[in-house]
Amino acid sequence: MPITQPLVKALGQTERAKVCLVTTGGTISSVYDPQTEVLRPGMSVQTLLESLPKGMGNVEVVQRELFQLDSANAQPHHWQEIADAIKDVNEEMPDLDGIVVTHGTDTMVYSAAAISFMIQNLGKPIVFTGSQIPATIPWSDGPRNLLDSIRVAAFGDIGETCIVFNGEVHRATRAKKLRANSYDAFDSMDPTPLGILARDIVLFEGRKIRHESEPIFDTRLDDLVWLLKVFPGLPPGILLRIAELGYHGIVIEGFGSGNLPTQENALTEAIQSVVRKGCSVVISSQCAFGQADLSVYEVSRAAADVGAISAYDMTSEAALVKLAWVLGHTSEADEVEEMMAKDYVGEVSFSGAVGFGGT
Ligand code: ASP
Repeated sequence: MPITQPLVKALGQTERAKVCLVTTGGTISSVYDPQTEVLRPGMSVQTLLESLPKGMGNVEVVQRELFQLDSANAQPHHWQEIADAIKDVNEEMPDLDGIVVTHGTDTMVYSAAAISFMIQNLGKPIVFTGSQIPATIPWSDGPRNLLDSIRVAAFGDIGETCIVFNGEVHRATRAKKLRANSYDAFDSMDPTPLGILARDIVLFEGRKIRHESEPIFDTRLDDLVWLLKVFPGLPPGILLRIAELGYHGIVIEGFGSGNLPTQENALTEAIQSVVRKGCSVVISSQCAFGQADLSVYEVSRAAADVGAISAYDMTSEAALVKLAWVLGHTSEADEVEEMMAKDYVGEVSFSGAVGFGGT
């Protein structure tokens, strides 16, 4: 059942609100360099806000200019810096209704997923957004996405980290960038979006709503994690090389429901060997929809039998970020398995998942 917020409230006509805008770069903040004929982040936050032709209504927007990064250059330490910035502004201004983070679309789902794990229970929306065309170009999607995000951060009844883009609200850990050029860059994988932006803010059940609580800020990470896509012909020795390089966790994107070769170029022995060396192996699916289920086929059960962990219906991006976050807390194999299966922020749903619980 959709829950529609009253129009008058969504329009911000009766209420004042306060939102912090954290800018990190991306196309939305990019400028065209006529010399080299490329786009590169560099627009000031002031110029970005001036792209909103009708202003921001009753919403006071506090600015925090963090980086001017193309998100292809974002690294795990940038996730921690974004989390620290949000923690700081939230402590400085407890009256904030929400936070908007502008970010490049290329790696937005990684950063937004990282913030989901690093900041839990904030009780108010953390909204990531960006655009496909720089905000100052007349037909840019930037102003609309930014305005929609400010609107959700100010008035949306959401208490979790999300991505607002092209009129849709996606849970951060469930979104994927599926389209490189379309304004509709992101989709939610499996669970429907958390909401849509129409004349009203229309939000669906299953999301975490605003709530008063003690936030948990925990940015510990082990970034020695690897994402490996399986393809026909992949030599299994690559797994051993990754472990030898010192990596502590590998997400293997298997075929279909997490299936891997078990005959020619079998990965089973290599998985067993790296798991024995203390490197966690998680199996996700190359499919956008559906989930890894290591119990279905002989070619997936074999990996589970030698110690691989299922990512269930987590996206590979969310599984990778979660593995880095989990390994930042423990290296005990049993605990890693338990934490990977636990639902922290709505990133995973399967019959045994416990924890987050939505609305
Ligand atoms: N390369 C850009 C970035 O991710 C693409 C975008 O923002 O759409 O920063």
